[in-house]
Amino acid sequence: GKRAFIAGVADDNGYGWAIAKSLAAAGAEILVGTWVPALNIFENSLRRGKFDESRTLPDGSLMEITKVYPLDAVYDSPEDVPEDVKTNKRYSGSSNWTVKEVVETVKQDFGSIDILVHSLANGPEVSKSLLETSRNGYLAAISASSYSFVSLLKHFIPIMNPGTFLFQVYFFRFCLHWFKVMVKVRFAMITGGAAISLTYIASERIIPGYGGGMSSAKAALESDTKVLAFEAGRKHKIRVNTISAGPLRSRAAKAIGF
Ligand code: NAD
Repeated sequence: GKRAFIAGVADDNGYGWAIAKSLAAAGAEILVGTWVPALNIFENSLRRGKFDESRTLPDGSLMEITKVYPLDAVYDSPEDVPEDVKTNKRYSGSSNWTVKEVVETVKQDFGSIDILVHSLANGPEVSKSLLETSRNGYLAAISASSYSFVSLLKHFIPIMNPGTFLFQVYFFRFCLHWFKVMVKVRFAMITGGAAISLTYIASERIIPGYGGGMSSAKAALESDTKVLAFEAGRKHKIRVNTISAGPLRSRAAKAIGF
């Protein structure tokens, strides 16, 4: 079976949880990355059985999460973590939660993964309009919601199983008169390593309330998806996609009053 790492699961209400369940139902092994400040509550709830009902898969079994990794996708390696975060008591209880360290730990634990899911975003000034957004708020939104995907993909690629290009042959015209069949042949990468993220329509249309530079962050994420698909596809045979999801009352969405 395939092994998936889903970054951005901290309860059973969001897209990350739902994607984990679908992948588990399809037979994948599930690893999740949970934001460090939310780690304790998530692990306790999981242990106490609070999610057992929503962990139920279509065949009646419970989704197993093989391992929960603490993660803060805003930091690439320990050198990037400011002192006040390092000593913050919500962070100091966990270790190895920067992107580079998480990938190193996954490598030690399992060797490789097949699927990377990026289901995380954060915009500290999301409730402010773009005109009212500070430079720091804007950059924080891009860092947590866009660059976090670049960073996760960059670090995970060396341990992602590459795909193979397969022949796809399909008939596109059948000329009865000449008893001649015209076929079209193409190469398509339809197996192996894949990365996906979640975007939102506010990248291309005005959605009042989706502020703080979050609309900009989603536009960056979408553009990056094309460039990363080209680069990771050519060099590493990894597919990169993003899904523009509809509105869902997740924890993140409630926080901005959606
Ligand atoms: P969610 O709250 O379930 O997921 C967001 C997760 O990101 C949370 O678990 C949070 O702890 C985590 N997170 C925040 N900052 C982080 C960091 N620095 N490092 C690691 N994790 C961090 O909410 P959701 O709505 O399911 O969001 C998942 C994705 O779906 C996001 O990219 C969001 O923008 C996107 N999306 C949501 C909607 C919607 O209406 N809910 C619509 C379209 C797209």
